[in-house]
Amino acid sequence: MGPKDILKQLNVFAECRRYGIPLRQCPSFLFVIMGLIIIVAMLLTYYIGVHYLAPEMLIIILGITTIVLLIVGHTIVASFERIAQANRMKSEFVSIVSHQLRTPLSSLKWSLDLLRGRRLGEINKKQEEYLDIVNESNNRMIDLVNDLLNVNRIEEGRFEIKPKTFSLESLAEEVIEELRPIANKSGVVINLYKDKNIPSIYADPNRIRMAVENLIDNAIKYSKKDIKDKFINVGLKQEKDEIRFSVEDNGIGIPTALQKQVFGKFFRGDNLIKQRVEGTGLGLFIARGIIKLSGGEMDFKSKEGRGSHFWFTLPIANKLINRSR
Ligand code: ADP
Repeated sequence: MGPKDILKQLNVFAECRRYGIPLRQCPSFLFVIMGLIIIVAMLLTYYIGVHYLAPEMLIIILGITTIVLLIVGHTIVASFERIAQANRMKSEFVSIVSHQLRTPLSSLKWSLDLLRGRRLGEINKKQEEYLDIVNESNNRMIDLVNDLLNVNRIEEGRFEIKPKTFSLESLAEEVIEELRPIANKSGVVINLYKDKNIPSIYADPNRIRMAVENLIDNAIKYSKKDIKDKFINVGLKQEKDEIRFSVEDNGIGIPTALQKQVFGKFFRGDNLIKQRVEGTGLGLFIARGIIKLSGGEMDFKSKEGRGSHFWFTLPIANKLINRSR
């Protein structure tokens, strides 16, 4: 190990980011904490020894304490190191597989577009139906691969954000119009309630669009099948220095016992059996990651059988820009 490697290892925060795990689970950080505990324990032992023990006894106790603490510390750190290593390997595996899948899926999409666009000759109704099914499945796989890559990037702190000043109000209106036909098919009415003169925000519009789409799309997907007045109320209002965007539905809701896991990876409620809707359980993880990286918060309230209310906040543009000066 050269001096460069030693310096690298001393940068605890960079090391922890590399593993893609929180600081409290990071071996290097825990090692520093263990070191501090050992120093405090030794000083304490010394203090007790000086006041209450003979010098020879003190040296023996200090020696034993140091050895025991070092062994325990090393064992704990080594086991964390193994877990962190496994976590990193898993992330790398997902990343490699996703990248490898991207190319064949893209060329499949390209060929399907040619066929369905009849640029390679006429196709009959039956052939078109089958090509539509293949296209649908291919799109689902592309979405999954993109979601997996985004999850990896968020976990490793590599998720790119290109902020600029834009109107969240216009973006929300665009997304609502884009999803309205799908909502209509499920008999869901989308309403927009907004304050006058909503200030602009400073964030990455493409990323925020993903979060907005996810919340409205979920509200449509998880609407009840067997009721008449299905609605989604989208809200936009200013609260002090923030814009609050909310999506309220009267859909199937989320069971209380599962609510702690909602923003976790691959979470899917066990009340979806009747719904038969496709999903990966990654959308909310990504959406919350995006909002956090943009300086906001995301949360929700839900009652099974009654509906859900998801919201996020984002700082308004001039406040954020002034804050960073
Ligand atoms: P996906 O929709 O692909 O499963 P998400 O991360 O967007 O993934 O959502 C995770 C889970 O949270 C869903 O599978 C569903 O169980 C629950 N959920 C999210 N939004 C709603 C909602 N509006 N109403 C009821 N359940 C929801």
